[in-house]
Amino acid sequence: MQRLILFDIDGTLTRTENGYLPFNEAIWQTFGIAGDIRTVMPDGNTDPLIVKDIFTKANVEIEIGTDRWQQFTANLGASYRQHVGRGETTVRALPGAVELLKALSVNEAFISSVVTGNFEATAEIKLEAAGLLSYLSRGAYASDSENRPDLPAIARRRCEQLARRGIEPERCVIVGDTPKDLEAARGNHMKCLLVGTGRYPVEELLYWQPDGCLADLSDTNAVLTELANL
Ligand SMILES: [Mg+2]
Repeated sequence: MQRLILFDIDGTLTRTENGYLPFNEAIWQTFGIAGDIRTVMPDGNTDPLIVKDIFTKANVEIEIGTDRWQQFTANLGASYRQHVGRGETTVRALPGAVELLKALSVNEAFISSVVTGNFEATAEIKLEAAGLLSYLSRGAYASDSENRPDLPAIARRRCEQLARRGIEPERCVIVGDTPKDLEAARGNHMKCLLVGTGRYPVEELLYWQPDGCLADLSDTNAVLTELANL
């Protein structure tokens, strides 16, 4: 029986420097408002909810329709690609992430995919920049739903189609860095491994009682053992 490992991206697999540059530029280009992602706490949130948080914080009342979201998604993707291409925004893999995904990709007991608050286009740019994209099958993104707890089931369905077999929720493990990842796992009857490479240190993550908790992903064998035994 295979296990499906659903990785969060930001703070779990990658760290982005100066990600606010393309994000704020896309807000300006799309809405004509100088919103700033640095005024909110984006960790664990989806991009649409982050945008709404920014406007709420700035006391901006705005109705955002489907067309505008599509525009924002396109602007964010284009801006991210430009900033990463120019080296103004950098995305790097966190310690052990490449080695872990490589090990999982050659181990038939596991399928690796993503559950992320990024739009699919931005997720791809980040994973590509960090050298991780080729190890992960298509998962679920903020472009599928702005509510993170909706995403694990979508990712599971896509991976089931690819694997041509059913994967029980109990055989799925979400690997994340925030209590929101854990909440999404619990809401979908999935297991959750939290890592202390995002905003929250291990001591704080343990308070939420995830199924597993590690300081980081650097010890590949230790992570594999944990993922196999959860
Ligand atoms: Mg995260």
